[in-house]
Amino acid sequence: MIDISKIRTQFPILSTEVYSRPLVYLDNAATTQKPRCVVEAEREQYYTANANVHRGVHYLSQQATDLLEQARSRVASFINAPSPQEIIFTRGTTEAINLVASSYGQLLREGDEVIVSEMEHHSNIVPWQLLRDRCGVQLRVIPFGDDGTLDLDAYEALFGDRTRLVSITHVSNVLGTVNPVEDMIRLAHGHGVPVLVDAAQSVPHMSVDVQKLDCDFLAFSGHKVYGPTGIGVLYGRRSLLEQMPPWQGGGEMISTVSFDRTTFEDIPYKFEAGTPNYVGAHALAVALDYVEEIGLDNIADYERQLTLYAIERLSAVPDLRIFGNAAERGAVISFLVGNIHHLDMGTLLDRLGLAVRTGHHCAQPIMTHFGVEGMIRASFSFYNTEAEIDTLAEGIQRVRKMF
Ligand SMILES: *Cc1c(COP(=O)(O)O)cnc(C)c1O
Repeated sequence: MIDISKIRTQFPILSTEVYSRPLVYLDNAATTQKPRCVVEAEREQYYTANANVHRGVHYLSQQATDLLEQARSRVASFINAPSPQEIIFTRGTTEAINLVASSYGQLLREGDEVIVSEMEHHSNIVPWQLLRDRCGVQLRVIPFGDDGTLDLDAYEALFGDRTRLVSITHVSNVLGTVNPVEDMIRLAHGHGVPVLVDAAQSVPHMSVDVQKLDCDFLAFSGHKVYGPTGIGVLYGRRSLLEQMPPWQGGGEMISTVSFDRTTFEDIPYKFEAGTPNYVGAHALAVALDYVEEIGLDNIADYERQLTLYAIERLSAVPDLRIFGNAAERGAVISFLVGNIHHLDMGTLLDRLGLAVRTGHHCAQPIMTHFGVEGMIRASFSFYNTEAEIDTLAEGIQRVRKMF
């Protein structure tokens, strides 16, 4: 069970006000707020255990290195990766996908194909387009229907003898759709094709197990799972990571360097050039402990109820159109009301203390699909309440009457 009042006291920002109104933070798909323990963990490390990692014999350096490697193990256990060596720290989901596109991309040839979907975040589209421009790899796109679910027959039909990778989102950051990635991975593996899962919107909200999914890569961002900004994770299957060349060069990732020849470290260090965000990694581990203490199944249950309640309240608003109604959905609702511009709605809701997101949500192909320029998005966390959803529904009604 979720003890909501206790949880809310752990997030100082939730008791702040905007425009003299209590903040109602419903932009959790963009970033989550931080519990005290995460902020304190960063502060504590800077005050007592800060030194560059992996290079020092001195006490502090060893301490910082231990914290970083413990964080790696913590991340591995959180997503049930077979080994911490398969966990690479990045700046976030975007950098994790760029790493795969750059490095795994070097194993691809002109005419090879990468399958993505029509509902991807730009960070799972543009890196593949850059690869296309560099070496002629082709992008194939799985379409979705107006209900916000992927067309799985079309997906199957996209496979050919040049298909080299599938890269798909687990949960859509706009439509809320939870894609059947386990089935999609099985199908891809049947064709001998590895799969990258963009788990930015799933890891914070449900239990994610890379061995159960049997995915080959999985990416997520610390800041969306109550951790700090500037730290993220790429999980990669060992056999693939070992074949892949480094994507950035520098310190930390080498074994020996001479002007004739440089040899590289083993995984994961081969992919971590330069001083890593070791403080962020440690604080991310603390965030994962925090989330696990609440319990991912508790979180998923609570957020499911909250989302159903929100759908019910919002559906009662005349002229309100929700985009995407997949049976399996996450804690995200995107909508428009009549002809009211999304920016006007967002701006007026903001005046009522309601933080929602407006615009294309880094997923312009979804906007194109529905023939709209932007949407309003409310996205929930376990610290949100039904009372806050009431405030949202009443706020939308108020704005609607102004037009
Ligand atoms: C937020 C998000 C990303 C990008 O994450 P960054 O933290 O900005 O790198 C990618 N995919 C999805 C589905 C997202 O929601």
